[in-house]
Amino acid sequence: MKVADNLKVINEQISEACSRSGRNPEDITIVTVTKYVSIERAEEAIEAGLSDFGENRDTGLLAKWERLKDRPKWHFIGTLQSKKVKHVIDKVSYIHSLDRLSLAKEIDKRSDKPVSCFVQVNVSGEESKHGLSPGEVEGFIESLGEFPHINVIGLMTMAPHTDDEDYLRKCFRTLKGLQEKMRSLEFPHAPCTELSMGMSNDYTIAIEEGATFIRIGSALVGND
Ligand SMILES: *Cc1c(COP(=O)(O)O)cnc(C)c1O
Repeated sequence: MKVADNLKVINEQISEACSRSGRNPEDITIVTVTKYVSIERAEEAIEAGLSDFGENRDTGLLAKWERLKDRPKWHFIGTLQSKKVKHVIDKVSYIHSLDRLSLAKEIDKRSDKPVSCFVQVNVSGEESKHGLSPGEVEGFIESLGEFPHINVIGLMTMAPHTDDEDYLRKCFRTLKGLQEKMRSLEFPHAPCTELSMGMSNDYTIAIEEGATFIRIGSALVGND
């Protein structure tokens, strides 16, 4: 399938999820996850009008960045090792996977301007998933105030792989509740207005529950 055709279907789904939940499609950014696909396929996505790309490894990001440079905005969406920060920091506009102080310290040190970060939360508590437990989020975000180059724009989660809609909805709703709470604290370094949640299988539910950034790979550009 052409990226443009997939995008048309996804945009329709986004519109419908927005009308079901009284939201505006303009408030939702599609992060095109290019981690599985070739540079040519990523270029096709740019031609289809997609402006934000996500990669989950430094090597994948650097390989695509070499060719595409700043034509898309780059989002780092995967686990980030501290020692890799220096390779990606001047290329990415967003980091979705801030989950520990040592990483915040390294980002702060390597960047010369505030970096838009999402704090990753492991809402479902699955052992295979990275991120803070919901109970750790407030203390963690508060402690990020010492880093002038960290700007916590919101929270991110990866929902479990399941068809159980009610369970997915519950996960997204928990993240939304946490985000609202963090926003209400009005930390200057953590406006916390955004929610990065929803992937190919669950983005319509995520939108109904308040997602502002959805990260879509397979359903948009494919996964082979
Ligand atoms: C791969 C990946 C996605 C996209 O997954 P799809 O199911 O292909 O849409 C989204 N978020 C993260 C963090 C990923 O690693």
